[in-house]
Amino acid sequence: MTSLNFKKTYKFAVKSALYITLFSTGLVGGLLLLFFTFSLQFCLLFALIIGIFSFFVIQYRVEHFIYRGVKKIYDDVSLLDSTTFRSQPITTDMATLTREVKKFATDKKLEIETLKVREEYRREFLGNVSHELKTPLFTVQGYLSTLLGGGMKDKDLRKKYLERAEKGVERLIYIVNDLDMISKFEMGDLNLEYSQFNIIELVQNVFDLLEMNADKKNIILMYDRRYSKPINVYADKEKIEQVVTNLVENSIKYGKENGTTEVTIEDLIKNKIIIRIRDNGEGIEKNNISRLFERFFRVDKSGARSEGGSGLGLSIVKHIIEGHDEKIYIESEFGKGSEFSFTLEKVKTVQPNY
Ligand code: ADP
Repeated sequence: MTSLNFKKTYKFAVKSALYITLFSTGLVGGLLLLFFTFSLQFCLLFALIIGIFSFFVIQYRVEHFIYRGVKKIYDDVSLLDSTTFRSQPITTDMATLTREVKKFATDKKLEIETLKVREEYRREFLGNVSHELKTPLFTVQGYLSTLLGGGMKDKDLRKKYLERAEKGVERLIYIVNDLDMISKFEMGDLNLEYSQFNIIELVQNVFDLLEMNADKKNIILMYDRRYSKPINVYADKEKIEQVVTNLVENSIKYGKENGTTEVTIEDLIKNKIIIRIRDNGEGIEKNNISRLFERFFRVDKSGARSEGGSGLGLSIVKHIIEGHDEKIYIESEFGKGSEFSFTLEKVKTVQPNY
């Protein structure tokens, strides 16, 4: 690179010196012819001196000029990011410089693009968060203001409104918890704590916890068959419980009255099992399925809101499952029901030898 560069630079000086020499020698020769007697030796000597002199002047000036220019470019660019260029030696090689500056510009462009995307994401996130928090906050505020404005005197009203305000606060806590979780996950802070546990027992726990919710809609929580033996898996127990809870909760929320939520646990391949949570509820339209795992996405914005979700449940589920390097699937038929399933690593049960 450098040798090529110097050849090029010399060429420039040699050529320029040659033009100057030719012109000035020609001029001097012409003037000699006009006013004195022409001398070839004089002309040659003159050409030699002018040639050498102009060559050195041009060579030196050009090198300095380029060096200074290039250094300025380096300094200017370094102002933006002092780490990228400072460490490298300054080059007067134009090809390398152009390449470096181009690379620098591309890197910067990429950086700006990423920042723009992140900014957009941040703005959208903030917008969604405040929107989610507003409804329950205003509800609580509404009930409390009515109480303070005189409603307090009525004993029945007092209890009713305080209970409603409490519900609003509960909902706020629910949303804030979900937000807290999702922002941690999105920062890559999943912190999985692996252990071995019985997945049947975990599902049963979730069933027990959500039985009251299911009863309200007369939904039966059941298994596809009797699971008498434990099925041990290797995962983060608390987080998988969160996944199962979210999915069963959804199956109730979007299930129909007198419906069923059925859990199936099957062997998938050698060391994997798949857990299916199937409901016969409202189902999901095909064009919405791909967006289901987006943060704050809801099929029916107004209807779902009354059900009290945060629109974050499935994003949380996806983060947890993918954090385990496992897969999650959805199958759904609009009007008939949905099935959410995910894989987990099975612990090989060693059969005792008698
Ligand atoms: P939400 O808090 O609104 O329940 P989720 O992320 O859990 O948020 O779910 C996103 C959307 O996916 C829901 O609003 C609902 O429209 C749809 N959905 C989730 N689970 C089911 C299901 N079992 N049946 C039908 N629709 C569902």
